[in-house]
Amino acid sequence: MTGEDIGHGRPVWLNAFDDTRRQATRYRKGRVLLAGDAAHVQMPVGGQALNLGLQDAADLGGRLAAHLTGRPDGAGPLDGYDRARRPVGTRTLTDIQAQSYLLLGGAEVEPLRELLGDLLESQSVRRHLARSISGLRTPDTEATAPDTETTTSDTGTTAPDTRTTTPDTELTETTSATGTTRERTPTMGKLTDKTALVTGSSRGIGRAVAQRLAEEGALVAVHYASGEDAARKTVELIERDGGRAFAVRAELGVPGDVHELFLGVEQGLKERTGESALDIVVNNAGITTPAGLPPEDVTPDEFDRLFAVNARAPFFIVQRSLPLLREGGRIINISSGLTRFASPDQVAYAMTKAAVEQISLHFARHLAPRGITVNSVAPGITDNGGPVFDIPEAVEQMAQLSAFKRVGRAVDVADVVTFLASPDARWVTGAFIDASGGTLLG
Ligand code: NAP
Repeated sequence: MTGEDIGHGRPVWLNAFDDTRRQATRYRKGRVLLAGDAAHVQMPVGGQALNLGLQDAADLGGRLAAHLTGRPDGAGPLDGYDRARRPVGTRTLTDIQAQSYLLLGGAEVEPLRELLGDLLESQSVRRHLARSISGLRTPDTEATAPDTETTTSDTGTTAPDTRTTTPDTELTETTSATGTTRERTPTMGKLTDKTALVTGSSRGIGRAVAQRLAEEGALVAVHYASGEDAARKTVELIERDGGRAFAVRAELGVPGDVHELFLGVEQGLKERTGESALDIVVNNAGITTPAGLPPEDVTPDEFDRLFAVNARAPFFIVQRSLPLLREGGRIINISSGLTRFASPDQVAYAMTKAAVEQISLHFARHLAPRGITVNSVAPGITDNGGPVFDIPEAVEQMAQLSAFKRVGRAVDVADVVTFLASPDARWVTGAFIDASGGTLLG
């Protein structure tokens, strides 16, 4: 076929394949259940038959277990297997057929290859195809199968479930160190193809912001100073949910801080996107005065350090990001409710946050001609996973400050930041957004 002279050798394994495409018309008849290669035959390309077979088996395993442990059958779990898995097989076979045309087709397919090449420039198209080929896409047909709904679990396998799910908006609640966070079946988000830098996103509010921006499709630079493991964890959490992120280390508040930060950010962006353009900058990293330190005891060094990390660094981060920010970009500065709520022990810290709010006000005017918005978000007391949030009495006391009588969750603030980062917030700039759960209502 190739015209080459194939030399002699001792074959250890011989195989032949073609583009045959077949699928069983039923996956279950009585006690006979088909999975994997028994259920479908396809051209072996991209390991899709393997993934499909594994996922058939995992789905069937759950159903058999349910059946054997006494869940009612009839229209029950085993019947649902055919409804859940056969459409997935059909779709995969269709995808494989499309691939085989592209791979093996002659000159008549060239225009299609060219078109697909153009479409592959788009991150959302690449993501869609990657999910299809890996078998990790949640097919609409699965989620809408009658009687027994199927949901995708953490491991990507499907198991019988009684919940009704809608493919585009499936939300599940889970609890984490920083409170309740939402997990979302990855779909096309509002920030697809955007890039973001979130300072101090190894933990606390920053981590939740990084996760939410990634959930909406942004590629996120996860910045940290010393918490390398925590930053890696943030990246892992994002990737587990189908998002994209990379970690960047730089201690802020020391000479050369912003330069070091942007070396890492630009390199990370270039490696992944081919350019160093940024769409979203969230100035979140911050330090506070130690609890219970009266204003009388704040030293000049402590004062300078607070300003260096909380106010100086954000200013120069904004300045340094200006040439990288694309038209329509977003800068979000994390302030604090303490700029509106007197707490004498935190006066020096509150002063740094008041300074940060000035960045938003003045840069908002400066950058409006480029369609870039600049806003401040002011959290109230927010569970950042710190030890104090493990003490029920302390939490109860702090909760009384909010109109809702609870402490904030990191995701409460992250949702507000994500809104400001989205195209929906195009008409909001220079604003102070209170995200304190009504703490400032008095
Ligand atoms: P957090 O849990 O203490 O985390 C702080 C983050 O900032 C970490 O990722 C940390 O990285 C990074 N960071 C701290 N110092 C740094 C430095 N010198 N250089 C570089 N990175 C540094 O913070 P959070 O409570 O979530 O607060 C986030 C933001 O919200 C802060 O600006 C804070 O002032 C503001 N805020 C918080 C609350 C609240 O109740 N939590 C309320 C109002 C406002 P490493 O761990 O790697 O050091």
